Amino acid sequence: MESVRRKVAVVGGGPAGLRAAEVAALSGAEVVLYDAMRSTGRKFLVAGKSGLNLSNATPFPEFMEVYAGSAQVPLPAFFYEALSAFDNVALREWAGGLGIETYAASSNKVFPVGMKAAPLLRRWVERLRQLGVTIRVRHRLLDFRVDEQVLVFEHDGESCEYPCDAAVLALGGGSWPSTGSDGTWQALMKAKGISVTPLSSANSGWECAWPRVVLEAAEGLPLKNLVVHAGAASQHGELVITRYGLEGGPVYRLGPAIRAQDSPHVLIDFKPTFTEQALARKMESVKRDFLAAAKERWKLSDAAIAVIRGLYGEVDDALSLAACVKRCKVPLTQPRPMDEAISSAGGVRWSELAADFSVKQVPWMHLAGEMLDWEAPTGGYLLQAAFATGTVAGNAAAVLGE
Ligand SMILES: Cc1cc2nc3c(=O)[nH]c(=O)nc-3n(C[C@H](O)[C@H](O)[C@H](O)COP(=O)(O)OP(=O)(O)OC[C@H]3O[C@@H](n4cnc5c(N)ncnc54)[C@H](O)[C@@H]3O)c2cc1C
Repeated sequence: MESVRRKVAVVGGGPAGLRAAEVAALSGAEVVLYDAMRSTGRKFLVAGKSGLNLSNATPFPEFMEVYAGSAQVPLPAFFYEALSAFDNVALREWAGGLGIETYAASSNKVFPVGMKAAPLLRRWVERLRQLGVTIRVRHRLLDFRVDEQVLVFEHDGESCEYPCDAAVLALGGGSWPSTGSDGTWQALMKAKGISVTPLSSANSGWECAWPRVVLEAAEGLPLKNLVVHAGAASQHGELVITRYGLEGGPVYRLGPAIRAQDSPHVLIDFKPTFTEQALARKMESVKRDFLAAAKERWKLSDAAIAVIRGLYGEVDDALSLAACVKRCKVPLTQPRPMDEAISSAGGVRWSELAADFSVKQVPWMHLAGEMLDWEAPTGGYLLQAAFATGTVAGNAAAVLGE
């Protein structure tokens, strides 16, 4: 008797969905991949514009320390198991299998040779077609019927349905909605009683109301070699003063710690290699114009001077100025809008999922990628988790109930 192939629908043609479709097809399932847009992988292509940072070569288990869940909700063990099962070595081998060699930069960031996403995506989609995956673009998931195992799409203004044995939803987060990941699935999930931590900007700049004097003197200027603190967390790096606030690696990385504060702010240490006392000693003979002297004696940059002057005025003793320079408090109002963030935090809550990434109340449906409630800094960690969760979800969808 001829065996009947399992029908697996994958919705969302980003890296998590493409990977889920690939592994489900490799497991012998009949796979149809749907995406709302005219083509797949749009955010992946955007990510490749400034060099596709595919993964990170930081060794495990240290690699996993960068991932966070929502405030006070730790990530479940099965999230980390997914990362271990398809880790940063496996991802590089996978790219190599498509003929795309990768290299790790000194920062540990892993890039494809050539840095681009388009060749990789082209070969990947070609592989999916060779595996027999049907790709249906311009199909927007609107609904699903739990008991009948039916997905309902809108296509060309018409409603169409797809009954399946299993589905993987990999609908992405909410940043850069023009790429198709617009987070509108949050309403659908909530309507089905599936709880969601609301999406918010992650890996984004933060807004603050700079006094006019700061912007006049320092807009667009970098603040280099800083340590930035938020709560108990801190990051070394560089920030840029913008019209609306602050941009740069340290505030991106400190996003979860900043969001956790009642009154969001950062403390900037402009002179991390000196103590307050050491700074004050360098000012011993100075009697006035301490900020002007700090430029010479502490090598304080013009931008840092503008920030201190704008936030604290003219400080008239060395020890007080040293305290401001070591713990300059910048009150923040909100993260930049999600439209321009690199990723989003929040997503479907882990309590809704079983260890195979299926939804407990919809066991034939699995979830993967950025639509789940994890976040990570830039550096290749986002794509790595999209690939890893897509791998588990695709495998589970292909074997479910067998
Ligand atoms: C500017 C920028 C640069 C980035 N650079 C990097 C980087 O260098 N390294 C890194 O690791 N990460 C980077 N990222 C983040 C990374 O691209 C994402 O984390 C990753 O694409 C998430 O993959 P995903 O498959 O979960 O979702 P997505 O890639 O967002 O894909 C989701 C898909 O679902 C589709 N969809 C959504 N709703 C529906 C619906 N209702 N019906 C049908 N289809 C739907 C969308 O059209 C989309 O194709 C960057 C992001 C941005 C915006």
